[in-house]
Amino acid sequence: MKFGTKTIHEGLNVDLPTGAIIPPIYQTSTYIQKTPGEHHGFEYSRTQNPTRTALEINIAALENAKFGMCFASGMAAIDTVCKLLSPGDEVIANNDLYGGTYRIFTKIYASYGIKFHFVDMEDAATVQEMVNDKTKLIWIETPTNPMMKIIDIEAIAEICKKSSILLGVDNTFATPYLQRPMDLGADIVMHSVTKYLSGHSDVVMGALVCNDENLAERLAFIQNTCGGICGPQDCFLVLRGLKTLHIRMQRHTENAKIVAEYLSSHPKVDSVYWPGKQDHPNHDIAKKQMDGFGGMISFVLKEDAIDAAIEVISKTKIFKLAESLGGVESLVGHPASMTHASVPQEERVKSGLVDTLIRLSVGIEDSDDLIDDLKQALG
Ligand SMILES: *Cc1c(COP(=O)(O)O)cnc(C)c1O
Repeated sequence: MKFGTKTIHEGLNVDLPTGAIIPPIYQTSTYIQKTPGEHHGFEYSRTQNPTRTALEINIAALENAKFGMCFASGMAAIDTVCKLLSPGDEVIANNDLYGGTYRIFTKIYASYGIKFHFVDMEDAATVQEMVNDKTKLIWIETPTNPMMKIIDIEAIAEICKKSSILLGVDNTFATPYLQRPMDLGADIVMHSVTKYLSGHSDVVMGALVCNDENLAERLAFIQNTCGGICGPQDCFLVLRGLKTLHIRMQRHTENAKIVAEYLSSHPKVDSVYWPGKQDHPNHDIAKKQMDGFGGMISFVLKEDAIDAAIEVISKTKIFKLAESLGGVESLVGHPASMTHASVPQEERVKSGLVDTLIRLSVGIEDSDDLIDDLKQALG
């Protein structure tokens, strides 16, 4: 089955008895057993719930993976991956991570004796240099947030295979429509489902997928033991959102191209970061591993004053000033004071995240209106 067909059909056979075309919201905590242990495959909704199962099957299929698990949030999914680790283990991650991921690594798991290294991964050799026999996990985001750098997933996967290191890829920005890390050698793919997969800014959820049965068992054990699960109503909403993922991603990408071109030619704009631009430093890798360049754009103003950036983001009308991304509506954000405020300023600047950097999540509105909005906001 091809991608667009999968988004609509995968995982939808869970309610065979009634023939409902859409899996119902199984708003139930438990399931009747005939005799102890004799049941229909569902015992208790922390462990399994049919609406969640339908969604887990769907997301796994989209990522070309065998197993899927859904969680209360993207962070609950990352938390589950961290719990695979033991004191003394080391993790290598890219140095411009989502702020919440940086925070859970450095503020929670570092104090449990796990060591985290943050490196620029544009050159895979830098990653190889950091590997030692304690390295258990390499964690990457690509495109990175908010610098839109592209990391060569296959090159990092090769390093991981040589030393039996797990490779986890946060695929939130690209979505499986544009990039399938499992096919490139990842062991775990993670999503903040909150963003493009849900697509309508009405759910907070996370997901993990993997192919290895033992790994799936360990992750499901942690999911069930620690209980960071999502409810059936949210699963229903995401199943609904996913049906248009392929169509939405096409439009996000088309609009982003138009916005990136407009910003690149604007006299007040210094640099524009979008992997689809010919002059993007990692454009070739993006072309190799992605089927399109996505809807996220960052840009830096020429005027080197934080107030100038604040003025622009306060003036946009269609681009709403808000955290998050990936919904049908366009959003604008200021990473230094919003999503990445938990990253220390010296770390931020090292990775290029200056105070005048503005991030756009380009929605699926009519592009003329988006350009008009940016025109008036930039003045
Ligand atoms: C939002 C986000 C997360 C965290 O997900 P939540 O659903 O907000 O918990 C992780 N990684 C990336 C890239 C994100 O954008």
